[in-house]
Amino acid sequence: MIPVRGFENARVAVLGLGRSGLTAARALRAGKARPICWDDNPQARDAAAQDGFEIRDLSRGAVWENITCLITSPGIPHLYPAPNPVIASALAAGVSVDNDIGLFFRSLATPEWSQFESPPRVIAVTGSNGKSTTSTLIQHVLEHSGRESQLAGNIGRGVLDIDPPGDGGVIVLELSSYQTELARALTPDIAVFTNLSPDHLDRHGGMGGYFAAKRRLFAEGGPDRAIIGVDEAEGQILANQLSEAPGDDRVLRLSVTRKLTGPGWQVFARKGFLSEYRKGKQTGSIDLRAISGLPGQHNHQNACAAYAACRCLGLAPRQIEAAFQSFGGLPHRSQRIAEAGGVTYVNDSKATNVDSAAKALMAFQNIRWICGGLAKEGGLGGLGDGLGHVRKAYVIGREAAGFAMDLKGVDAEVCTTMAKAVAQAMAEAEPGDTVLLAPAAASFDQYDNFELRGEDFIACVRAGLEA
Ligand code: ADP
Repeated sequence: MIPVRGFENARVAVLGLGRSGLTAARALRAGKARPICWDDNPQARDAAAQDGFEIRDLSRGAVWENITCLITSPGIPHLYPAPNPVIASALAAGVSVDNDIGLFFRSLATPEWSQFESPPRVIAVTGSNGKSTTSTLIQHVLEHSGRESQLAGNIGRGVLDIDPPGDGGVIVLELSSYQTELARALTPDIAVFTNLSPDHLDRHGGMGGYFAAKRRLFAEGGPDRAIIGVDEAEGQILANQLSEAPGDDRVLRLSVTRKLTGPGWQVFARKGFLSEYRKGKQTGSIDLRAISGLPGQHNHQNACAAYAACRCLGLAPRQIEAAFQSFGGLPHRSQRIAEAGGVTYVNDSKATNVDSAAKALMAFQNIRWICGGLAKEGGLGGLGDGLGHVRKAYVIGREAAGFAMDLKGVDAEVCTTMAKAVAQAMAEAEPGDTVLLAPAAASFDQYDNFELRGEDFIACVRAGLEA
């Protein structure tokens, strides 16, 4: 636990008592603040009350008098599509609004760090896709190399739940746009931007707001190193604005679409080979084709980002390569779950948006594609060339018929349920085919989350193989 500093004896409101909210309340209490908690869900309130927290309905009466700050959870809108009423009333009362990430950055450093040989460092990873894979991969490399490291944020543990880092310790944070948009302190030592494609647009008032939310990670605290994917216009402008001159090596540029040249520091992957160039000279290379846990160009982008972050910490290219070899990948992301009768089964349930599904389609051939669910704004136009790899689509979701209609130029069957889609795809698959779940849509119309959707897919495949 990281006790929150700077709020001793102050009353701090906490809205939302899920994982991050409850952890924030505990960390505030550990720092001798007085948390006052609320959640619309009675069960969440009961859990907090059992933990000894004061519960007060923050939506009623003149609650804001004597409250110093409001801490909110990432799932609660503070601006678009409309501010949550509690947040709106705090804003109107002039109470500062923050989140657990802001509390973390203001509380992490302690006086004992002055006795450390090397102060702990924070690497923060953001971007539309690849955050979890990249941050997990960075931590895997650090662990493999014997460096003390912890992973937290939008993945695994809440940020305030980590142990205070020791001498030379590294904290790897996965940060979503919801988190970066609101945090009042954002001071990582190394910040990573993987890529940008439309997602969560309703929460950010469009693409400009979405980019602005991620951009804060680089603009607010001024990291020592910024690692930026420059395959989109947004990454290019970000890298450009952060560097003083072309040779400024505080900015590392990444690409998986072209060779990057120039006097600065760059890492790119082409035809399965990762290359690092610094000051015009090649300083490292890895053959990524041999690394089974990182299939496809999108994972090569994650590999470039993780490689760059580890190089910034002083790790050698060979050390990083050795660790990549033992990376098993993450569940629900390009996860090979079975191979039978020449057919491969892949679970990419985390492909909740069009861009991640497009990347999954590009990574495989002869695809029997299970897709559909709660479609996101922006339509399916961005699926691009990967559609050419699809033999047939098997569409699930409550709106399966409409989704299938939008899949132009693809043979699509409306299946609605996972069980039917898997059974149909298995019956029609031929040796050399890949049955791929990559929905290009959120799961909430049929499942509580993408993990349950992926597990349902795995269960249906196993049942089909055993039958
Ligand atoms: P995030 O944490 O940003 O959601 P994940 O690593 O969990 O990223 O991957 C989310 C989805 O995006 C998965 O479907 C995965 O296969 C795909 N993906 C992973 N890395 C990338 C990338 N660099 N670009 C595009 N899609 C990616």
